[in-house]
Amino acid sequence: MTMKMRDYKQDPFIVIWEVTRMCPLHCMHCRAEAQLHPYPGELTTEEGKTLIDQIYSMNNPLFVFSGGDPLMRPDLFELAEYAVQKGMRVSLTPSATPRVTRKAVRKTKQIGISRWAISLDGPDVITHDYFRGMPGIFDRTMKMISYLNEAGMSFQVNTTVTEYNVDKLPEMAKLVAELGAAVWTLFFLVPTGRGKHLKPISPERHDEVLRWAFRLQEHVPFIVSTTEAQFYRRIAIQENQRRKKAGLEPIGRHHDRMAKAPRGTNDGNGFIFISHTGDVYPSGFLPIDCGDVKETPLPEIYRKHPVLKSLRDPDSTKGKCGVCEFRYICGGSRARAYAVTGDYKASEPYCTYIPAGFQTGDKNLE
Ligand code: SF4
Repeated sequence: MTMKMRDYKQDPFIVIWEVTRMCPLHCMHCRAEAQLHPYPGELTTEEGKTLIDQIYSMNNPLFVFSGGDPLMRPDLFELAEYAVQKGMRVSLTPSATPRVTRKAVRKTKQIGISRWAISLDGPDVITHDYFRGMPGIFDRTMKMISYLNEAGMSFQVNTTVTEYNVDKLPEMAKLVAELGAAVWTLFFLVPTGRGKHLKPISPERHDEVLRWAFRLQEHVPFIVSTTEAQFYRRIAIQENQRRKKAGLEPIGRHHDRMAKAPRGTNDGNGFIFISHTGDVYPSGFLPIDCGDVKETPLPEIYRKHPVLKSLRDPDSTKGKCGVCEFRYICGGSRARAYAVTGDYKASEPYCTYIPAGFQTGDKNLE
């Protein structure tokens, strides 16, 4: 299937639907602050199918069933099959619960789901189970991955980077390779939901970790991608410029249509999130309600909402991000700007880069 070139003002690259907020785990960084019981007002099966039709109509973006634990929704397989039969590339982000059985994994393979995303925040029982707030989750996650490998199902590993686990990343990289993941996605903390109680790494450490992650790609069989670290793209360009000067080949020419956008996405700009009740947000980490798909079709919300339009205008970002030469491919995490300053147009608080000619002392930098 070929994809037409995508104009992010019209169509997103990726759509995440939080099908439910139910989840039996108590992960420390949970954006959704998930609970065991269904929240009232979750979209019905029919509303879900209408939403899928609308998503498909937007130039068939990547589509992710997220949660909570999506497997707690009894009609999940029906919805996933409906999307796959339309020709959509569908991913699933289940929690490590006893619902992930061999049979469930085979079923997703048979339906035609393209990829699973598995959370793993530490390379050992102690680190991961502490993060996940429950004993036994690391072992269960390893079992889930063995089922995925048995079924020949592609998967990515998602790791949330905080002060607590940052020193374990090299060990994590080894484990991710051994497990056979196609992609390793590093999530950089946005202090929202339960994540407010976790300690993020410093801005300088962000740079170090991202540079390390970029170089890692030379030596590992998986793709490295990031979430809420848009300045990874600035670091990739700077690193490859350095390599070019030193006469070295550039890194990062791998291509994976399920992991890498053809150009930079950002909250509300190529990326859109629909909550369990049908409310639309620029991302799961940027809690600005832009409309309700039960009342307004998603394409109309995505294309016309003033906040989303503003997020797609990097020239109007405040402070250094608004004048930075990397603003069209980076633009900084709008979610982190909002969580830290209350202003989604403020400069990215964790990027150390000072664009040439930018006057320091700007209040958005302080
Ligand atoms: S200053 Fe802003 S736009 Fe420039 S690299 Fe940093 S986060 Fe990206």
